[in-house]
Parts: sequence; structure tokens; C-alpha cells
Amino acid sequence: MSLLDRHRAVMPTWMPVYYGDDALEIVAGSGRRVTDAAGRSYLDFFGGVLTTMVGYDIAEISDAVRAQVGTGVAHTSTLYLIRQQVELAEKIARVSGIPDARVFFTNSGTEANESALLFATNLRRSNQILAIKNGYHGRTFATMAVTGHRSWSSSSLSPLTVHWLASADRLRGRMAGLSDSDLIDAAVDDLREVLATVSAGDVAGLIAEPIQGVGGFVAGPDGLLGAYRKVLAEHGILLIADEVQTGWGRTGDHFWGYQAHGVTPDLITFAKGIGNGFALGGVVGRAEVMNAVPAISFSTFGGNPVSAAAGNAVLDYVLSHDLQGNAKRVGSVLLEGLRSLSYDIVGEVRGRGLMIGLEFMRPGTGEPDPVATLRVFDLCRAGGLLVGKGGLYGNVIRIGPPLTLTEDEAREGLAILTDAIATADAESRIA
Ligand code: PMP
Repeated sequence: MSLLDRHRAVMPTWMPVYYGDDALEIVAGSGRRVTDAAGRSYLDFFGGVLTTMVGYDIAEISDAVRAQVGTGVAHTSTLYLIRQQVELAEKIARVSGIPDARVFFTNSGTEANESALLFATNLRRSNQILAIKNGYHGRTFATMAVTGHRSWSSSSLSPLTVHWLASADRLRGRMAGLSDSDLIDAAVDDLREVLATVSAGDVAGLIAEPIQGVGGFVAGPDGLLGAYRKVLAEHGILLIADEVQTGWGRTGDHFWGYQAHGVTPDLITFAKGIGNGFALGGVVGRAEVMNAVPAISFSTFGGNPVSAAAGNAVLDYVLSHDLQGNAKRVGSVLLEGLRSLSYDIVGEVRGRGLMIGLEFMRPGTGEPDPVATLRVFDLCRAGGLLVGKGGLYGNVIRIGPPLTLTEDEAREGLAILTDAIATADAESRIA
């Protein structure tokens, strides 16, 4: 029995696995490349899901993790002092941009957001949360409730009362075609209208991704969160920035996605890349909000020594190698290369740093084209390039490589992508 058949026989049906019947088993990695079980090498433009942020088998990170495992105590529990955890918390507090910040570690982004929602709702004594359509925040009851993406909403049962704001999608819906300043005005009107109508009494917080990740790398104009914040401040409503995909310099221009908006959030959630493959997430935020938990809240594994060793090594590496600068430089090579292509099926190339989305549309109609998207996705893999897929309509190719990507690798991936797009474009005209 193949590994895929065994997977299907033992895992639930709803678990997504890329490449269907041709599912990929990655068994080794080095730099920005991975090798599958058949010995085939791929250039990785997705890094899991922006997870392997620094790349594969980077000595500084592997050595730090090995040294920690080598102590003989992989982990007991967070009831005991963990030096690596405290050090990482100090570093994250320092880079957070939040004065007198506190940090709480979790094992995932879902738990990080669940915790942030716990803190905000406790402080504000309200279960009402504002969330943005097409956002993704996790898979627990509270985080699913604030996830505005139908494919990922597996239950309507919610501990929260959620009020929805329009997504800053410039291609479809009520924000389509608006200029930056008109979009910000429309978004603020939307927020005011929601607060004036559907919300009853106090709202605890607004949770937002600075760039929507799973939603297909959809970003509002710079300053949007700042404009929201002015209205939120009138009501004492907290701002939670979900930086699970946008943090640590990925966007090139900034260390955190929120910095494009002239605002400092009350809480920032993080996960994925900071562990570079090890399970690590958390919340960093204002002490007053972080401390607003009336009982004990404990995670056995959150910030365990091995994950925290990885986190420390990753953050040190990101800062000492200026990976933010690399994301900006190499990201602009990719963005310019992709923008210079002219194929009818490519409706939009958007992005910032090493977070780039390609939106596929049916030529002439502007309708989302998930079929062409899937074709490009599969052709990339056949050509030796891993990319991601996403978007509300499944019509976005997501590019989120390790932040160490070199210019040569960017050009190599660009050539494979271009071939894939050219083929899918030609096929779409025959079909
Ligand atoms: N927030 C965002 C923005 C995410 O992209 C994700 C994961 N796709 C999560 C939260 C949830 O993280 P995890 O899968 O680690 O629970």
C-alpha cells in the first residue's frame, strides 16, 4: 500500500493534501530545496505555508535544536523555568513595537489567536468581535468563528458574537475598483455602520490579518488599520493583528505587517515561520490586555525548550542576516518578473516582499478561474517548483518562499512559473 493509500485509510476525509493522487512526501531539505521520497528535487516557493521561513537545514538553527535535544531533557513542562523561552520572550517583546509587552507562547497559530481572543474578551467583558470577510484565523470554535472563508468554516457554533467587515478586495464586491483613499473611506463607513447597527453594547476587539494569507494575499491600502483604529479608539475596542503569515520581515518593507498602517496593535499573534518547522506560536501584547485572565491558563508545550531554541535561532538569524532586506530585494525581482508577463489568464499580480499572489481569471469575464490555477499549480510541480494555492475562489497561486531565497533562485522559479502559465494560458484558449 502506498503512503497516500495508508494516509487515506487512517486519516479523516477532510484533511487537505496537495497534489491529489500524486501527493508529495518530502523527506529531505537544504536551503530552499526539498527532496521527495522518489529522490526528485524541488525549489520551494511556499515553505510549507510560509512555515520554513529561513530555509531547510540551516546550520545555525539545526545546531541550536540539536544542542537542546542533546541535553537529555527535551521537555518536562512549562511549570518549570525555561531559559530559552524567557530569552525568546524578551527578544519578541523588544521587536514587537509594543511598550512593556508581555508574551505568551502556544504551539500553533490557532491557539495564539484563541488566546488573543480570550485576553481581549476578558478585558473588555464582551464576547463581541469584529472580523474581516475572507480572513483565516484557525480551526477552533473561536478562531473558526472569526474566519470569514467558507471552505475553512467547519462549524457555525461559536463562543463569540462576530460582526463582519468587508474585505479590502479591490477586484470583487463592494470595494471593487476603489482608489486607496476611497477604499479607506468606504471601510471606515462600513465599520461605523456595523458599530452603529448590529453590535449591541461593547465590542471587545477587531482581529485582522495585515495581508490576508489563506484568502489569497489580499491587502488593503497602507493606513487602513490605522483608519480603523481611530474609530475603534472612540469605543475602547482593541486591535489584534494576526501576523502568522506577515510577521518577521516577510513583507520586505516592514518587520510586521501592521507597520504599513501607522498603528500599533494591542495584541500581535504569531506562529508558523518563527519555529521554522518546530511547533511554536504565541501572542505578544500590552501588559494590561495580556494579564486580563482571571484564572490560570497553561500550555504544557507552549514555548518548550526545543521549539524555543528553534525560535531564538530563527529570530537571531532573521535579524543578523537582514532577511527583511532580502525579502524586499528578491521579492521585487519576482514581482517585477511576474508583472512583466502578459498572459490573458493572469488577472492580477499583487504582493509585497516575499508574499506574492497571482490571481487567475477567465479572460474577458473577470470571473475567477480555479481550473487554470490548478493547472499552473500542477505544472509548477512537474517543472520542479512548489507553490501554494488559495483565495476565496481557489484562483490564487501563493508565493511565500523562505526569506533566504537568492536572486538566482528567484529567476529559476520565475522561469518555471512562466512556462506553467504559458501552457495553462494556451490550453485555456483551446478549451
Ligand atoms: N492565522 C493565520 C493568518 C494563518 O495563516 C494560519 C494558518 N494558515 C493560522 C492563523 C492558524 O495557524 P495554525 O495552522 O498554526 O493553527
